[in-house]
Amino acid sequence: MSTAVVHYTAAAISDRGRKRPSNEDAFGYSVEHGVYVVCDGMGGAAGGEIASSLAVDEFMKRLTGRTADDPLPTGAEQAIAAANQAIFTRSERSNKLSGMGTTLVALLTNERHVWMINVGDSRGYRMRSGRLEQITVDHSLVEEQVRMGRLERSEALRSPLRNVITRALGTQSSVTPDIFELETAPGDLFLLCSDGLTRELSDALIESLLGAAAPLEELCSRLAAAANQAGGHDNITCLLVRVEA
Ligand code: CA
Repeated sequence: MSTAVVHYTAAAISDRGRKRPSNEDAFGYSVEHGVYVVCDGMGGAAGGEIASSLAVDEFMKRLTGRTADDPLPTGAEQAIAAANQAIFTRSERSNKLSGMGTTLVALLTNERHVWMINVGDSRGYRMRSGRLEQITVDHSLVEEQVRMGRLERSEALRSPLRNVITRALGTQSSVTPDIFELETAPGDLFLLCSDGLTRELSDALIESLLGAAAPLEELCSRLAAAANQAGGHDNITCLLVRVEA
């Protein structure tokens, strides 16, 4: 029996958008280690930027430094706990950073197996055979209300409570991520992104942009440009990972 080696390629972009004075999103990845992560920080002063970059640094450090026999999902949970602790401890030491936190959405790959992990409302999608599917579930108040039948999905985007997230890294002493295990097929394209993309562009528009035959860097640029064209109200971060044949 032969074992196919699965190759992944990746590209990312992070754009300040047109309205915000700074960029509180952060991303990191290592194709070699099969680790990809996007974080969207929040909190006064420089809190958001510090929280998202602490989370990316800690997550990358833990998952690129692990030994090969650590199962990935367990390693990811430990990495998230460490990132959570790093932000929480830092925010407790400084009044100015008090309450800072960040979302996290990550993809981990090991041959044909991949895991998507999220805390907060940054999203992970899979594009397969031209169809875009959201894998993660937002940890947000409006998503909970939609799931309970109290709010129409079309109303959620306009709700004054749309910014309220129900889970974040760094705001509590512990946090539980969601973990989705998937099998990949050649040609699958994974998108990790902050809400600066998904608030501006419908899933249908993202699907059509990702359907174009173009290098990943170019697709990232087109997504950010389209979100800016639609208003660019927030920072925009997109990370694309493709399963090569
Ligand atoms: Ca955001």
